[in-house]
Amino acid sequence: MLTQAKPQAAIADSADPRPKALVIGAGLGGLAAAMRLGAKGYAVTVLDKLDRVGGRGSSIERDGYRFDLGPTIITVPQVFEALWADCGRDFRADIDLRPLDPFYEIRWTDGTIFSATGDTDRMIAEVAKISPADVPGYKRFLEDSRKRFVVGFEGMVNIPMHRLWDTIKVLPLFALLRADKSILGLARRRVKDERLRMALSFHPLFIGGDPMKVTSMYGLVAHLEKTYGVHCAVGGVQAIANAMRDIVEDQGGKAQLGVEVDEILIENGRAQGVRLADTTTLAADLVISNADAGHTYERLLRNHRKRRWTSKKLRSRSWSSGLFVWYFGTKATRDKWGDVGQHTILSGPRYEGLLQDIFINGRLAEDMSLYIHRPTVNDPTAAPEGDDAFYVLSVVPHLGHANPVDWTAERDRYKAKMTKVLQGTIPGFEQHIVTEEVFTPETFRDRYLSPYGAGFSIEPRILQSAWFRPHNISEEAKGLFLVGAGTHPGAGVPGVLSSAEVLAKLVPDAPAMPARNTVLRAAE
Ligand SMILES: Cc1cc2nc3c(=O)[nH]c(=O)nc-3n(C[C@H](O)[C@H](O)[C@H](O)COP(=O)(O)OP(=O)(O)OC[C@H]3O[C@@H](n4cnc5c(N)ncnc54)[C@H](O)[C@@H]3O)c2cc1C
Repeated sequence: MLTQAKPQAAIADSADPRPKALVIGAGLGGLAAAMRLGAKGYAVTVLDKLDRVGGRGSSIERDGYRFDLGPTIITVPQVFEALWADCGRDFRADIDLRPLDPFYEIRWTDGTIFSATGDTDRMIAEVAKISPADVPGYKRFLEDSRKRFVVGFEGMVNIPMHRLWDTIKVLPLFALLRADKSILGLARRRVKDERLRMALSFHPLFIGGDPMKVTSMYGLVAHLEKTYGVHCAVGGVQAIANAMRDIVEDQGGKAQLGVEVDEILIENGRAQGVRLADTTTLAADLVISNADAGHTYERLLRNHRKRRWTSKKLRSRSWSSGLFVWYFGTKATRDKWGDVGQHTILSGPRYEGLLQDIFINGRLAEDMSLYIHRPTVNDPTAAPEGDDAFYVLSVVPHLGHANPVDWTAERDRYKAKMTKVLQGTIPGFEQHIVTEEVFTPETFRDRYLSPYGAGFSIEPRILQSAWFRPHNISEEAKGLFLVGAGTHPGAGVPGVLSSAEVLAKLVPDAPAMPARNTVLRAAE
């Protein structure tokens, strides 16, 4: 039975004999999927409502300053190298990726500074500087991290998890590693100093997870950073996204920007194409959604009866936190604040209390912890010579809590509080600002169509991971696949690139595709 209007027109290239794949969303996951499908022989069209590729990994330019909107810390560059290699290309020839040392710095209100690097001896010295008694516990944490890396990263991230059995198989190892305990619980077990507990457990905040609830498997990040380093890309992640688009185009695919998909068309239980907001219909053999999994099921499949991802089920998920991000360019400041590197974390007066307010109470706290990004330290292309392009990020509640924050009313007040906190690190910065932009959870909701304005889709809790997450091969319709933060393995750049690798394992090579639905073929 036809559940939607028949396609009226198709703008996908009907002269191209290859089977057609439509990718909704040009986020890093969508672009990686497009590259992999192009390599498999599909004619790929990527559709995005924004005016540029990269999604959360894109940038905006204001008055000569480039603001990298989202990811700034590149770990595991090998996922990019493998993606490029699988498409017959060399990542290092396309992208100037630079290793950072130190990786980042954490500063507490009492003046303590922790400088994170990939060198174990230096890390032990940093721990000893804060709490000598915690050094043995820290060494045990490093071993905890290594074991979790082997099981959770090497053994899971690029492996399909849509069959329950694949998740059941890893449960004994998860039980052995106490994956039921939180990452903060693991840090508490290993070290006593509150600052070190924060330093060992905060990483899930960078993918929107509550360290008090996120599984201790995320302790793998320490080993991951040590093994692969932390890097930045000259030109920002936008440069990587642009290079991905170029490869898609070299493969004969295309990216159509400024087009919003309104609905995924399903016929006889199979995805047949999409309808755009302007009512144009595009036919395809495969539809891949890189839109948020919640948006995909709630909005794009609104006329299709769902078995698993009903509105009720989606509402009952724990969603990742929201983000308040202040982007600003400062004039003639490159010689100022010489101690402020590319990545600085300012830990506020409370850790667990603040987490409780953000994730449980859904309350905008008076205090805050901040992440300061200053790309100009390593990347002169981010701002005019002698200037700086900063972004300062605060983790805040998403919009799905009772009494969500009204950001139109709150924005300037919150910015003023942020200014006060920043004075200790970049004193007088506000007098140098020449251009600025603020993103709140409302921006994330409207710009990326992110449910509840969440920064990173569904939260990475244990019962929302692997089989429990929306699958890469949709449970709701044949020929529909999901890629990106809301599906397995989850958010973060290595995560969404791995989701494209999983997807490519599930999609047959193009020549093996069955013939396209004849109704849609006739419409072309
Ligand atoms: C501020 C911030 C900082 C971060 N820092 C880091 C970091 O340092 N390191 C790290 O590894 N990760 C980081 N992340 C996480 C990482 O950026 C994301 O998890 C990842 O980029 C998400 O990629 P994605 O493929 O899921 O797609 P997204 O980036 O979410 O892109 C989805 C795209 O789909 C488009 N779209 C949605 N619906 C439609 C529709 N109906 N029609 C057309 N287009 C549509 C959107 O416009 C968007 O472009 C950060 C994220 C943020 C927000």
